[in-house]
Amino acid sequence: EKCVVAVDGPSGSGKSTVSRRLAAAIDGVYLDTGAMYRAVTWAVLQGGADLGDPDAIAKIALETELSIGTDPSAPHFAANGTNVDAAIRGTEVTQAVSAVAAVPAVRKHLVALQQAIIAGQPRIIVEGRDIASVVAPSADLKVYLTASSAARAQRRSAEDAGSDVAATEASLLRRDKLDSSRAADPLKQASDAIEVDTSDIGIDEVVAYLLNLLNS
Ligand code: C5P
Repeated sequence: EKCVVAVDGPSGSGKSTVSRRLAAAIDGVYLDTGAMYRAVTWAVLQGGADLGDPDAIAKIALETELSIGTDPSAPHFAANGTNVDAAIRGTEVTQAVSAVAAVPAVRKHLVALQQAIIAGQPRIIVEGRDIASVVAPSADLKVYLTASSAARAQRRSAEDAGSDVAATEASLLRRDKLDSSRAADPLKQASDAIEVDTSDIGIDEVVAYLLNLLNS
């Protein structure tokens, strides 16, 4: 039967690793909605739009042709025919993505794409900020991952091949603030989501716990 799992939480909470592992374990696919906002942001920056101009941002976002990979072992992304796997993890995109994601027309467009992808898959793990609340409110399992900002920064900088932990923490906190204070679909925990604090427990344990919930 169909199985949709929503995994929300702030950056560095372990969402990506947990989601990919869960998807592989249930022989399903993985949708990284943050990568979609990042790929659109890459196109917006390429197009030279002013980040203070929501109409200009929306115009480029709606014209961007996205190719969205859902293979949990290697999710590749392209925008307008260019592979953006590396570029969307870079500083420029990371700095600009919250501004792009705050534009309601961009969200509306990407949420519709996300819902179409979810509708076409029997088993899918969807990771983001508003999955349980907006994208897939009827998901079979809703998970909200949290962790202290120190633990999140530690994780992110290890992923980014040893980038400075303090600078990473400052960047995470800045994005958390922008993402949770925006008017359109701010990051917040759905009331029916299961909260898991990953500060002091290993990813293996989190995955095992969630698989248990899925199978019960
Ligand atoms: O998860 P990740 O850090 O890659 O997300 C990048 C940005 O995309 C977030 O900081 C947020 O601004 C935006 N985002 C969002 N809604 C989602 C996923 C990501 O607004 N569902």
